[in-house]
Amino acid sequence: MSYQRSPLSNKERFWAKVNRRGPNECWPWTGAHDRRGYGHFSCRAEDNEPTRSSVAHRLAYEWSIGPIPSGLAIDHLCRNPPCCNPTHLEAVTIRENVRRAHAATNATHCPKGHEFTPENIYRKASHPGRICKTCSHEYAREHQREYRRQGRDTANRSRWSPEQWERRREQDRESQRRKRAARTPAQREAMRQYQRERYLRNQATAIEYARRKRAEKSRLGQ
Ligand SMILES: [Zn+2]
Ligand SMILES: [Zn+2]
Repeated sequence: MSYQRSPLSNKERFWAKVNRRGPNECWPWTGAHDRRGYGHFSCRAEDNEPTRSSVAHRLAYEWSIGPIPSGLAIDHLCRNPPCCNPTHLEAVTIRENVRRAHAATNATHCPKGHEFTPENIYRKASHPGRICKTCSHEYAREHQREYRRQGRDTANRSRWSPEQWERRREQDRESQRRKRAARTPAQREAMRQYQRERYLRNQATAIEYARRKRAEKSRLGQ
């Protein structure tokens, strides 16, 4: 089976992934998105424009309203990251965008729509505002699954198991062997030459260092 390139244009592919509901409602992005809920879209090379990857709501703004003045951020008036409704988007300075985000702490729901009840809130000194418990638990579970899939220790997830280290060392040795075997005689000679030079350089440095040490010693001894 061969890969069939979609005959649709970038804009057609893009809008097909936006759930365009009522004109005043949010238009959620249904394609790939990041952890914060912002949609992502890859534009193919088209009409002398190179390939590029962009955040969905920025493309929605560009294609419905116009180019985004350089240095400006696109703010969601609805505070709903996946929303691509151009009437909910406004180009503002980064400073204004951050100010609004902080002012929005009276939101009643997290970006994924879980309600901010007292039981569903974490607070952390290192994190501004409230953290959705449901979301962070989901995220943790997702990670646990991923770690288990990789055969890693879920209790000490930052640590590798001895088998993992052994596997990694074996991979390293294997790639070293492959690299060594792939070298031509000229490359091998160049490598030897380089090592010889490095050895001599290091030796010269060591001799110089020892000489200075001796000079220092005799100067202090006087
Ligand atoms: Zn919206
Ligand atoms: Zn949530």
